[in-house]
Amino acid sequence: MKPVIKLAEKIKRVAEDLDEVRLMHLCGTHEDTITRYNLRSLLPPNIRLLSGPGCPVCITPDEDLQMVMHLLGNEKIILTTFGDMMRVPFEGRTLFTMRSEGYDVRMVYSIFDAVKLAKSTSTPVVHFAIGFETTMPSTAIALRDRVENFYVFSSHRFFIPAVHTLAEGIKVDGFINPGHVSTVIGVKPYEEILKKFGIPQVIAGFDPEDVMLSIYLLLECIRDGKMEIVNEYTRAVRYEGNVAAINAINETFDRADWAWRGLGTVRESGGAINRKYEDHDARKFFEDTFKDFQPKEDAKKRACRCGDVLKGVITPDKCPLFMRVCNPRNPVGACMVGFEGTCNIWATSSTVRTR
Ligand code: SF4
Ligand code: SF4
Repeated sequence: MKPVIKLAEKIKRVAEDLDEVRLMHLCGTHEDTITRYNLRSLLPPNIRLLSGPGCPVCITPDEDLQMVMHLLGNEKIILTTFGDMMRVPFEGRTLFTMRSEGYDVRMVYSIFDAVKLAKSTSTPVVHFAIGFETTMPSTAIALRDRVENFYVFSSHRFFIPAVHTLAEGIKVDGFINPGHVSTVIGVKPYEEILKKFGIPQVIAGFDPEDVMLSIYLLLECIRDGKMEIVNEYTRAVRYEGNVAAINAINETFDRADWAWRGLGTVRESGGAINRKYEDHDARKFFEDTFKDFQPKEDAKKRACRCGDVLKGVITPDKCPLFMRVCNPRNPVGACMVGFEGTCNIWATSSTVRTR
């Protein structure tokens, strides 16, 4: 922990020359590092560390989940998805509980397991695909296989448009950019945000030293009026990103205006499967089934503040349901479900919070 303490001292010195500074990280794994090592307690009171929309399960809106549930209820399909997504509730039901009702829902660790399953059966297999640019290349590769009875319900979302929406809507003085997404997209796309909003950014690794160093570098930029993007995570992130992965994404997905939990509709953020692969696009193939679909509001979630947690407006403990009604065994909102969800991280960490 020595380097962390040293960095905390350096942060304290820079912070003395500054008013209140609001830094936002955009990554579930960063929140995990910050919470488990209690890094917020090492920061001076004028430095606020906000948690943004970094978890793919959290930002997937209820509407997408309802659509998938609707499909499962009306078609004879096998539905596959990742474990955390199966635990997100809607009106008290989850994909897990639908499985106990007799629907064929299967948890997979990779989309390629879903492709394998499709090859072994004649029943249509629909994969509920979530995630940012980190998971989109795998979906692109799985679609290239063109397995006849394999379909993707894409809930993929592009990351950068959401950062635009955040920067437009809330006051942030610096962003700590996500490590894994950045290994795919590189440094370049963040330059648009710098140009438009003049907000300095650091692409950060996941160790406590990485996070503390990133905070220090951002504070230096703010103090000196330097508008920069610093790549602190050079061991994994290149300026141009992963070109093969970017090409696979561009070949497979078109950008659409899709909603995010907490952020509303974000322009050009949706990863809609393009025409080349439309025979395997569940939204298109089952178009008739979706004709009578109407999204609803889940009355049970009215008090849930996930939207505000995802925008850094509140910390999880400010939600009236936190650890009273909503806990990791019985999540009410999506932020309590996945291991990258801020509420789940706060609930499962033994950190004693002093602020
Ligand atoms: S996918 Fe990885 S880098 Fe991206 S937000 Fe989630 S944990 Fe962070
Ligand atoms: S504590 Fe539960 S209900 Fe409240 S914001 Fe978090 S996930 Fe939503």
